[in-house]
Amino acid sequence: QPPPLNTAELQAMDRAHYLHPFTDHKALGAQGTRIIERAEGIWLWDSDGNRILDAMAGLWCVNVGYGRTELAEAAYRQMLELPYYNSFFQCANPPAVRLASAIADIAPAHMNRVFFAGSGSEANDTVLRMVRRYWDLKGQPQKKTVIGRINGYHGSTVAGASLGGMKPMHAQGDLPIPGIVHIPQPYWFGEGGEQSPEDFGIWAAQQLEAKILELGVDQVAAFIAEPIQGAGGVIVPPATYWPEVKRILDAYEILLVVDEVICGFGRTGEWFGSQYYDLTPDLMPIAKGMTSGYLPMGGVIVSDRVADTLIEEGGEFFHGYTYSGHPVAAAVGLENLRILRDERIVDYVRKDAAPYLQERIAGLIDHPLVGEVRGVGLLGALELVSDKTRRARFAGDGRAGGLCRDICVRNGLVMRAVGDTMIMSPPLIISRAEIDQLVELIWRCLDLTA
Ligand code: PLP
Repeated sequence: QPPPLNTAELQAMDRAHYLHPFTDHKALGAQGTRIIERAEGIWLWDSDGNRILDAMAGLWCVNVGYGRTELAEAAYRQMLELPYYNSFFQCANPPAVRLASAIADIAPAHMNRVFFAGSGSEANDTVLRMVRRYWDLKGQPQKKTVIGRINGYHGSTVAGASLGGMKPMHAQGDLPIPGIVHIPQPYWFGEGGEQSPEDFGIWAAQQLEAKILELGVDQVAAFIAEPIQGAGGVIVPPATYWPEVKRILDAYEILLVVDEVICGFGRTGEWFGSQYYDLTPDLMPIAKGMTSGYLPMGGVIVSDRVADTLIEEGGEFFHGYTYSGHPVAAAVGLENLRILRDERIVDYVRKDAAPYLQERIAGLIDHPLVGEVRGVGLLGALELVSDKTRRARFAGDGRAGGLCRDICVRNGLVMRAVGDTMIMSPPLIISRAEIDQLVELIWRCLDLTA
């Protein structure tokens, strides 16, 4: 065991050697990074011993909660049995085979095969390769363009960040790469203007049709979207949105990629967000809740239509990752699925936790700072406003959200701020009493922000 280090020592070492993702190191200044040392259930403890309610499930991933010894034991057993072997070149390992089969069992009926990756970003790199390969094999190699959405998030690799529509990411590194375009998001509160949510939902969906017609149907390979945009600010589309998108996709020959990296594995109260919105995807990238974040793993669930084409007509697909189907990650994924199934956690979300969380956070609309509350399943968002009758934002481009987030942390709560939108995505095992604690903490932090 290396000797223990106190917070100041860890922070000094961090400052000297550690380049963090999505972090402005200079702005951290003397405050330094927050070091999280341990966790149990929905609770974190930092290196100063503070207990913090993790209303983000890490990064939307710790679905079964922290501290599940069964997952550690599954990893330990598998490491002793077979810590690694590749799944390239006609090889497989038992946990990866079983996990592919177990995922096919819970996926929509027309999706029976899984391609494994190491993360959600890698999964979306696979998506881009796969949709283009599919259309090549269908004799339409010019069908290459993928349509994504402004403010969608599909990862941080070159392909993932290009498929996503995060402008600050595009600005760093000349993205998106060619052949990827974006349409507006269905964000009524922020962009709906005077339209009703229903009309705005139809308008936003019809931007897809307009873009398909502008590019030419024969050029468009796929549309990619999250069922509910997560990192963009838990943007729950108006009820009219997905039915209209479905109508449009049915009218044109275009693949639907539903990014399930956040919504998959129970977050909406269904196994997948596609089931919540009754979608029929061709591809579903997955990650996060697949292992509840205990080990890195991602993948793409592939429809029979696409898989059969790749298999029957494609020969070798020159694509894969060293850690595709990693046996230890797969063993953890299998055990995670067993826990979700045996403990009926997805049912618990649908029947109990989600209705209760949504009912309780809906009450936050009475707070003077809150202009809208929205959510689905165990996803929630609060819009901070300076004047709720006019949906008026605070000046300062996200300063109010940043302030609220910092106040939350100081008061033992992790929520994320996307501009002035406060978002949450707690572990699926959160109890009613913990939801009460969460809402009380949010109310107190809003008071301190006001
Ligand atoms: N897709 C969605 C919808 C995500 O939310 C994320 C990560 O937050 C990703 C893809 C990328 O996943 P990863 O960070 O595992 O690469």
